[in-house]
Amino acid sequence: MQVIHSLQQMQAISSNWAKEAVIGFVPTMGYLHQGHLSLVAASLTQCDVTVVSIYVNPSQFGENEDFGSYPKDLNLDLELLNKQGVDYVFCPESKDMYPSPWHTWINVEQLSSVLCGASRPGHFKGVATIVAKLTNLVQPKLIFMGEKDFQQVTVLKTMFRELNMPCEIISCPIVREPDGLAMSSRNVYLSATQRQQALCLSQAIVRIKQLYQQGERCPNTLIEDAKQLIASMGGKVDYLSLINPNSLQDETDLKADTRIILAVYIGKTRLIDNSPIA
Ligand code: AMP
Repeated sequence: MQVIHSLQQMQAISSNWAKEAVIGFVPTMGYLHQGHLSLVAASLTQCDVTVVSIYVNPSQFGENEDFGSYPKDLNLDLELLNKQGVDYVFCPESKDMYPSPWHTWINVEQLSSVLCGASRPGHFKGVATIVAKLTNLVQPKLIFMGEKDFQQVTVLKTMFRELNMPCEIISCPIVREPDGLAMSSRNVYLSATQRQQALCLSQAIVRIKQLYQQGERCPNTLIEDAKQLIASMGGKVDYLSLINPNSLQDETDLKADTRIILAVYIGKTRLIDNSPIA
């Protein structure tokens, strides 16, 4: 496994491989868990060469968010990736990624301004820009991303399609802890009590799915019921919506592919989760 810091070196290596091999790419912000490693496993199975990036992208964090305190453990990350058989780990530095002055931003309109985009203005602009830049450097055919960040996948699939970028996103299932909590690097922020409270996200999803299966079709009834459950467990809802998986707009006529999607504060930690309703 080779660890690369230089943008030029990454691009040169990728240009060589891209002529003859399928490059798979897993972009991450590090502090890796089994969710990340499931994406790596998928890439190793489906591609000739696997590149993982570890980069905490400043431009996708809001001013009052956790950029400064985002968890890091590069040595452990590298050990895990090496054990798994990754070919290249790309660890660029911000001075190289965003040379000053910086001018270029990608904005995927509408899809970026709802849900997480409404609570985190500018977040998806930062995500779209960094993923476009990383994609130009790594030149993958396939990019492996988690359904955990459902809106992110939708935004980025739209960007790749509309900008005719020659790569495809493979979205992979959410990996959960045995008790249902979706794995996240941010789970490390939770105290023991908050770790229990955090189960309200997956349990709200289970509750909505159960009521839907029993025949409840009124979105507001389902949403209000789940919000009560979350409040009773100590969570503070940022948003909880039943959306069309393509437009990300609220769905009034619920169908099997309607997506339950939510963000909840547990103390100061903001967690997200989602699932199809049936
Ligand atoms: P992050 O390091 O949070 O930027 O995540 C990097 C990639 O890992 C993104 O594509 C995420 O959607 C994905 N990911 C994060 N958590 C999970 C999870 N629990 N299951 C599957 N994929 C995940």
